[in-house]
Amino acid sequence: MNAPSTPALADNLRIVLVGTQHPGNIGSAARAMKTMGLSKLVLVAPEKAPDRDTQAMAAGADDLVEAAPVFATLAEAVADCRWVLGATARSRRIQLEPLHPRDAGARALVAAASGPVALVFGRERTGLDNDELQLCHAAVHIPSDPAFSSLNLAAAVQVLSYELRCALLGDVGEVVEARTPPPGEGAASHAELEGLFGQLAETLDQIDFHKGRAPESAMRKLRRLYLRANLDSAEIRLLRGVLADSQRMARLAGQGSSDGKIG
Ligand code: SAH
Repeated sequence: MNAPSTPALADNLRIVLVGTQHPGNIGSAARAMKTMGLSKLVLVAPEKAPDRDTQAMAAGADDLVEAAPVFATLAEAVADCRWVLGATARSRRIQLEPLHPRDAGARALVAAASGPVALVFGRERTGLDNDELQLCHAAVHIPSDPAFSSLNLAAAVQVLSYELRCALLGDVGEVVEARTPPPGEGAASHAELEGLFGQLAETLDQIDFHKGRAPESAMRKLRRLYLRANLDSAEIRLLRGVLADSQRMARLAGQGSSDGKIG
């Protein structure tokens, strides 16, 4: 392979294909990855299992497909990841500010130094749905012609794998100062963050924060805020402790204050 540290970093770069409809695209994506020195392919609920078309399009990269774990949901596929980046064909649909592929590649590499990083691709027909995009910490958009913006799935994998390759071969230190810097050492995992968000949503319900409004908008803003903070595991535990106490107080308040524990 390349420079001594390259294989170890590349091992932390995971390409996740969600709900792929054409098995041939899985093979083409594997080929695109392998040419760029990437090997960690992960499938989430493919519409059809890899088949002869996959093998034909992989053209020698079938080892990546054979080794690819298959998960039922995106959340499971990225549970251990430090940074999750969603590739999307339509910049206007994204709640998250989309990164330029070059910037995304460089930041992915910085994050990969401290743990697994996922680059997530959607279905050929419909892309990633809103719930799946919600699970991403950042979005990346290949600046295609807005009038014809959607690349073939494997072509998108090729472009973004190429950017990762360039970042792997280049100087990672040049990553520009970012509004949301990539997570560093000790950063919380995706599952830990989702645990916090789940408990936060529950707590907001229990303290009647939304007062009849739809909870999605507040939760989206709060997710963004917490993601910007680059929380580590200890900070997540602290916040969850605060939430647990708030939940306990809300329960006591709900039972009435006659037992004298409130105040
Ligand atoms: N019709 C779908 C396009 C799906 S293309 C839609 O409009 O959302 C399949 C996948 O390839 C997308 O989900 C995305 O992950 C990736 N992709 C395609 N074009 C892209 C682009 N310009 N930038 C980033 N990713 C892109």
